Amino acid sequence: MKKNIPAIHLHNCSLEFTLQLQFKTLKVLDHVTVDIMEGEFFVFLGPSGSGKSTLLRVMSGLEKGYTGDVMVSPVITKNDISFVFQQFALFPWLTVYENIALGLRSRHESDAMIKNKVMSMAHELGLHKFLASYPRELSGGMKQRVGIARALVTEPKIIFMDEPFSGLDSFTASTLRQELLKIWAERKITIVLVTHLVAEAIELADRIAVVTQRPATIEKLFENPLSRPRQARTKAFYTLEDTITAIIKP
Ligand code: ADP
Ligand code: MG
Repeated sequence: MKKNIPAIHLHNCSLEFTLQLQFKTLKVLDHVTVDIMEGEFFVFLGPSGSGKSTLLRVMSGLEKGYTGDVMVSPVITKNDISFVFQQFALFPWLTVYENIALGLRSRHESDAMIKNKVMSMAHELGLHKFLASYPRELSGGMKQRVGIARALVTEPKIIFMDEPFSGLDSFTASTLRQELLKIWAERKITIVLVTHLVAEAIELADRIAVVTQRPATIEKLFENPLSRPRQARTKAFYTLEDTITAIIKP
């Protein structure tokens, strides 16, 4: 659900890393300018190594060494932001229950409240039978369900997702994408997702920013013209996929 309030505003955002051992710098972001609107499903699409993860880190406040402006809406605080990672980033020594509860524990919520929220999330994501399991006992798809549950349980306003489905088989990825869209539509959260998969971007996004090879800059920004729910095996979908693929420079 889109409203006309920017959740995140980037203006001429550039970043270079200093490579200490090689006495040189690596330019990773080059004048990235974009407004991401509240409630929007926004996708950055670009080749590997272009700077997409760095861009997410800049937007979420994890990476500070940039120039230009990065502004997050004043109604969004650090506690309103969640992350989902490609490699799940679960704690192997904690059960599924405790992995989901992590963000709530750091907010010092009561045990009863935590249990309530974790159980409800676990049911929604089909994890209720796995709450006592450890991450190593789960398939990739189930691990990412835990990653998504952990991100959602704190009721964030923004979720940054860094190639969340790239490590999964295509069937599992497709199922999780459908579930994510349902969650997004129900909760009206802002989602900023990065991917290198054109079809994934088309299936999910309200708007797609195609980024160039490093240093990342926005090559093209456009509204997704396809209505929801998106039908992947249609001429309109394939045509859009071809158009976008032609824009990406590997
Ligand atoms: P993507 O997510 O699009 O694959 P990244 O943002 O991870 O790209 O990385 C972009 C480039 O920046 C890569 O060449 C990577 O090696 C480099 N890079 C990322 N983080 C750092 C860092 N902390 N220090 C130095 N170089 C980095
Ligand atoms: Mg990355």
